[in-house]
Amino acid sequence: MPSRTRLAVALCCVIFFCMAFALAQPPAANQMPSVIQVPAEAQASPHFDATAATNAYLAQIPAGKTARSNAYFEGGYWMILWDFLYGVVVALLLLNLRWSARMRDLAERVTRFKPVHTFVYWLQYLILTSILTFPITVYEGYFREHKYGLATQTFGPWMGDQMKGLGVGLVLGGLLVMLLFGVVRRLPRTWWIWGAVVTILFSTFTALIAPVYIVPIFNKVTRLDDPKIVEPILSMARANGIPAKDVYTMDASRQTTRMSANVSGFAHTMRITLNDNLLRRGSPEEIQAVMGHEMGHYVMNHIYKGIMFAAIETVLMFACLYYGLGWALQRWGEKWQIRGVGDTAVLPLVVLLVSIWGFVLTPIDNTATRTEEHEADMFGLNTARQPDGFAQAAIHLGEYRKMNPGPIEEFIFFDHPSGRNRIYAAMRWKAENLQLFTVPQPSVEGPAAAAPTPPANVDKK
Ligand SMILES: [Zn+2]
Repeated sequence: MPSRTRLAVALCCVIFFCMAFALAQPPAANQMPSVIQVPAEAQASPHFDATAATNAYLAQIPAGKTARSNAYFEGGYWMILWDFLYGVVVALLLLNLRWSARMRDLAERVTRFKPVHTFVYWLQYLILTSILTFPITVYEGYFREHKYGLATQTFGPWMGDQMKGLGVGLVLGGLLVMLLFGVVRRLPRTWWIWGAVVTILFSTFTALIAPVYIVPIFNKVTRLDDPKIVEPILSMARANGIPAKDVYTMDASRQTTRMSANVSGFAHTMRITLNDNLLRRGSPEEIQAVMGHEMGHYVMNHIYKGIMFAAIETVLMFACLYYGLGWALQRWGEKWQIRGVGDTAVLPLVVLLVSIWGFVLTPIDNTATRTEEHEADMFGLNTARQPDGFAQAAIHLGEYRKMNPGPIEEFIFFDHPSGRNRIYAAMRWKAENLQLFTVPQPSVEGPAAAAPTPPANVDKK
């Protein structure tokens, strides 16, 4: 690296470190009302109206909170663009200043043994690009999150997590590039097919080990033992043929105020995890509604479908990569001092083409995910029968997701249905299953008392 550039990079880092320490302050509160009441319009009655119930729920959110959550989420649209452009600039710098070729030369001086050479190149590449992208990483991951009251970490622990992430990237990324360059060098004509196969198997393997071996690097995962929470969840799991014996929780509050839950892994590493923010702030009805949703992902095989979808995309991406790399190297290969597709110095070009692919496919990927999320929502309503708990969860998730976007906006940017659509779906479900909730009937004799919220376990058929 020329000394001027080195100086600039160092200066950049110093400025950001100083800003980070100056701004490491306790997070500003951006939380939605913690206890969300079932509004009068959403209570079971003979004249229950789904739209009125939805509007009544949305009206519980203070205007200031809506504005803040909209600003955060819409800022995220721009971040997609800035992240993409920033990455393009970094890749072009590495290619045009021939830093990539120089990293290759240096790796060759260390060793000519191909796999180790590839790993040494990867080590340099990962560290250099992490430094170059640090300004946007620290803005997006630290300052922006603090500005909107979503982050709970001060700078030191945040930076610690970044370093851990770098370590994971070093090992897993290093393994993948060694495998891929091995394939490209051995199979110069068909590498795009076998490269795709290797990538799919590698991602599947990573997804398999992640809950047990990667997540615990960042967070403490523990088995939940509160029977009040666990029993209804396991009962729901048994009713749906889910082989879960335990429910897990993790200390997500170490990093964020976001509530969330997930089903991860598959086969023997499959597990249901709800984060401690959901556990702390969600009502029992809300937790069951969320768990019903998560079980939907499992029962409808979303993990396997996700792998299939990613596999198709990966094959298409490698085909584009095959032609894209050939085309670009013919034009600029000599200028960038890249000897061919099997030369490690080609990596920034690969990353550039893959990021263009990912950027263009954003709406398609979001729509694929959103469709599955909608399916899980419907499954969750049928299973948990907690439409009000579900509406409350949608409002809590509105702390970091815009509640009421336009249809095109939702199509392009939303990987989950919008809060409004989720509440409406829940209220429509409630309207069409009112018999499950005790509706006051004044003319009928007997104990038909009004119940504002449904019981924790509704067992009427
Ligand atoms: Zn989901």
